[in-house]
Amino acid sequence: MIVVLKHGVSAEKKAQLIAWLQGLGLRIHISDGEFQTVLGLVGDTSTVDIDLVESLDIVDSVKRVTEPFKMCNRKFHPESLVVEAGGVKIGAGSFVMIAGPCSVESEEQIVTVAKAVKAAGATLMRGGAFKPRTSPYDFAGLKAEGLELLKIARAETGLPIVTELMNINDLPLFEDVDVIQIGARNMQNFDLLRELGGVNKPILLKRGLANTLKELLMSAEYIMASGNEQVMLCERGIRTFSDYTRNTLDLSAVPMLRELTHLPIIVDPSHATGIARLVPPMALAATAAGADGLIIEVHNDPIHALCDGAQSLRPEEFAALADKVRAVREAIR
Ligand code: PEP
Ligand code: MN
Repeated sequence: MIVVLKHGVSAEKKAQLIAWLQGLGLRIHISDGEFQTVLGLVGDTSTVDIDLVESLDIVDSVKRVTEPFKMCNRKFHPESLVVEAGGVKIGAGSFVMIAGPCSVESEEQIVTVAKAVKAAGATLMRGGAFKPRTSPYDFAGLKAEGLELLKIARAETGLPIVTELMNINDLPLFEDVDVIQIGARNMQNFDLLRELGGVNKPILLKRGLANTLKELLMSAEYIMASGNEQVMLCERGIRTFSDYTRNTLDLSAVPMLRELTHLPIIVDPSHATGIARLVPPMALAATAAGADGLIIEVHNDPIHALCDGAQSLRPEEFAALADKVRAVREAIR
């Protein structure tokens, strides 16, 4: 249920109403916007007398929220969320390009790529240290050493780090990363999501291979209900009967999620297509669809990449794409 307060309500009257609602056993999520304050009521609202609340002189309107996701619901939080990661703002018009290799392979590789993507206009860098691989025989990342190499690259470039956490037990190693990525395969690892509620840093939650938008939002809800509201969503392609691409980029997810939630929406055209030459057109399409940012795989030597070389752009290709992304952003402004 949401309670929209009238404009200019005094802090005292607002506090009294909140205390009364809390007394009914509800958690109150307060969204203080520029024009209105929205109180989101979380818990069993069946005991709340809507007519009574609506009749109060400080209340503008009361609505039931029928969707099962509450905290990530735009009805609870009408203004778009701005997430801050290592000094970079993401969301509500602050567009970001996150770029880097699928996995961190060596100091030389990650520093070279980080410098190149920074020069091209990337504002954060990506790089996997813990890699979920389909085959147990594939390179699974440099793990703790990979995280150290990312920190070296950050020191050299100033780019905040986005990197994937697969296992709760590794969480202490991630203290110094800027954004924790939760991969598609872990989108419904509810124990992991709950644990992220206690983490004081942004989470980039990727959509599962065969998950609906509602399921994605319910996973975001897990993190938020556990205490961390700094969540970003990532559309990275879903499984369909598409035969020539790795996945199908669900572009309509971008405007649909925009309506449903206030969380920033990032698009990953690399995993969505699996083919480097398809990455630029899909990145531009995602930008035009209104994404808050892109996450793109870039490698200095894709042919010899230990992971996802076929979908990785060379730095000069990324630079050319970044120019076009800026042009699209300008065109849709
Ligand atoms: C990745 O970002 O390298 C990755 C493994 O992505 P996803 O979880 O979307 O497959
Ligand atoms: Mn990858």
